[in-house]
Amino acid sequence: MLKQLYKALVSKNNAIEEKSLGRIIRHQSHAISRNSISINALNVALSLQKAGYDAYIVGGAVRDLLLKKKPKDFDIATDATPEQIRALFKRARIIGRRFKIVHVRYGRELIEVTTFRANHDTKFKGKSSITNNKGMLIRDNVYGTLHDDALRRDFTINALYFNAQNLTIIDHLNAIEDLKKRKLKIIGNPINRYKEDPVRMLRAIRLNIKLKFSIDNETSRPIKDLSPLIKQVSNARLYDEVLKLFLHGYGKDTFISLRKFNIFKQLFPQTEEILKKNTNQSKKYILLITNSLSNTDDRIKKNKPITPAFLFAVLLWPVLDSFKKEFNKKNLYKDEVQNIINEQLKTVAIPKRFIPSMKDIWYLQKKLENFSAQKSLQTINHPRFRAAYDFLILRSSVDINLKEKSSYWTDLQKSNPKKYSKK
Ligand code: ATP
Ligand code: MG
Repeated sequence: MLKQLYKALVSKNNAIEEKSLGRIIRHQSHAISRNSISINALNVALSLQKAGYDAYIVGGAVRDLLLKKKPKDFDIATDATPEQIRALFKRARIIGRRFKIVHVRYGRELIEVTTFRANHDTKFKGKSSITNNKGMLIRDNVYGTLHDDALRRDFTINALYFNAQNLTIIDHLNAIEDLKKRKLKIIGNPINRYKEDPVRMLRAIRLNIKLKFSIDNETSRPIKDLSPLIKQVSNARLYDEVLKLFLHGYGKDTFISLRKFNIFKQLFPQTEEILKKNTNQSKKYILLITNSLSNTDDRIKKNKPITPAFLFAVLLWPVLDSFKKEFNKKNLYKDEVQNIINEQLKTVAIPKRFIPSMKDIWYLQKKLENFSAQKSLQTINHPRFRAAYDFLILRSSVDINLKEKSSYWTDLQKSNPKKYSKK
């Protein structure tokens, strides 16, 4: 089926004037082969080309393949409109809040197909690109050419277009040079690009850590000053971004970098208020978070399951724990837990289903610290004992006073491994 598609395409000479704007890297000069690309992505790209459209694999997938990393997902860019794309594929759905994109589903794999879009520009004002009074893009469905599409992307290294039919790469922004130099460089004027979409600041930090690149000076310089703009982003979108920041295998280094750039404060203001105090206790909290994230990074490498509930329980623990130290009155506890969560939801949405887990992990800390032989069985059979125990181990890694208590629970599980079997 794919072979037929290639044949049908051999004579097609697409987008000549587009290519003339950019550099073409022929197959001999780069290491991407068809074999390294998802068969479904190939199918989507080649089917679009067969139907007479331009279509390229674009973004993170091309970048990662050139760096010999396994792409997380494959995105396609095309000159077909969302409706034209949908008409070609059985399992295609048009979605999108800020702009329309098409999802083509193959079992568990989702191929994201977007129509070439133009960057937000004054010449489009009043058409379909709209910004709010702070320069943030709130709608941008302005279609454009491949060149426009390259310019509206975030970083140069994310703006490479791979043609699956003739295996060439189109580079309009000298991205290959930046890839070779391992430089993360934003496209266009950094201040305007961050104002248009403050999430680009989070993406800069995440990608830089993940790829072990260095950030270009112009790209990194404005981040600290512009970091408060993050607060304008919806809490639902920030939830997605927080998961990408902390649960993608480089959480510890990302956390350190986010604090350096004043961004962690925008995402978790209550926590940063405590971390920044520079006391012995605040240093312990920082260590608790970095230890936890480094465990998470390890678990991800080993393909072990992770849950956002544990992540949020850790990131908000310094707030709750400081409160407990100040007011040790029992009846206030429940209210305070709820207040802390409500305050956090103003910046980053936490899905409802995770809240009971977080609360249990916190609540069980008290039980684990003040154990009694008679009540141990009840505690150990609590459905969230395992997570709460892991949390206590983590706390005992930064607090020697807890070592004995955590050993008690470790020994108790060992003494009867069947009954308290680890999940
Ligand atoms: P990864 O999937 O490895 O996290 P990625 O670069 O592929 O990284 P995606 O979120 O899959 O990230 O986005 C795909 C492409 O869409 C990017 O490579 C980039 O070209 C473009 N893009 C994504 N987010 C933005 C943004 N906020 N502003 C401009 N372009 C963006
Ligand atoms: Mg991607």
